[in-house]
Amino acid sequence: MVRWCLLILFKMVLAATVVDGAVASPVDRVPTALRAVALTFDDGPDPQSLRIMDLLENINGRATFFVTGKSIEKHPDVLRAIFARGHEIGNHTLSHPRLSQLSPESIEHEILGTQQLVKDLTGQVPVIFRAPFLSYNDSVLFILQRAQLPAINGTLTRDWDPSTSVEEIIAKSTGNIQPGAIIVLHSWSANTLAALPEILRLLQEQDFRLVTVSELLASQE
Ligand SMILES: [Zn+2]
Repeated sequence: MVRWCLLILFKMVLAATVVDGAVASPVDRVPTALRAVALTFDDGPDPQSLRIMDLLENINGRATFFVTGKSIEKHPDVLRAIFARGHEIGNHTLSHPRLSQLSPESIEHEILGTQQLVKDLTGQVPVIFRAPFLSYNDSVLFILQRAQLPAINGTLTRDWDPSTSVEEIIAKSTGNIQPGAIIVLHSWSANTLAALPEILRLLQEQDFRLVTVSELLASQE
């Protein structure tokens, strides 16, 4: 009974918030005076995350890793390494579902469960979120707002598609890039790892600093 009441209350609050238009949309780029971009890597932690950090640290760059619970369970040491090495950890759900197809309770479980898992291993909770498949609806955005987690999209490189070549990933990550851009990559992709040295070289050539998403958000104008 209590559960039902809570559910009805939740749906009323959800409806009210959506009508108010108070739910923030996902961020695609951060307006900033900083000459900086954020490289983001989804679906880890995984062994390639370590290689990615090595390449970034050669040029004093930092990245953001949107991690899933299922990858954390396989590679908890890599998660700890991402944290210890000063890169940012973002929430990417427990099981990588299409959130817009789930009930509010399941959406909440996917998001808050990941917050807890990262906290258990690093002592800190993520402050940013990216939905798998960038799949949002009003319930997802409302739950994120209540958890004070901004939704972060960005410039898509299509590196998740095996038919996207290394050259295309480089071009999408470095062509026409504006300050405050957020580049969406995947830490498991062999093509992405192969593209990364050239991506870093070309971004440096354009004088971009590589910062975390939270650093970009803090510099927002
Ligand atoms: Zn993903």
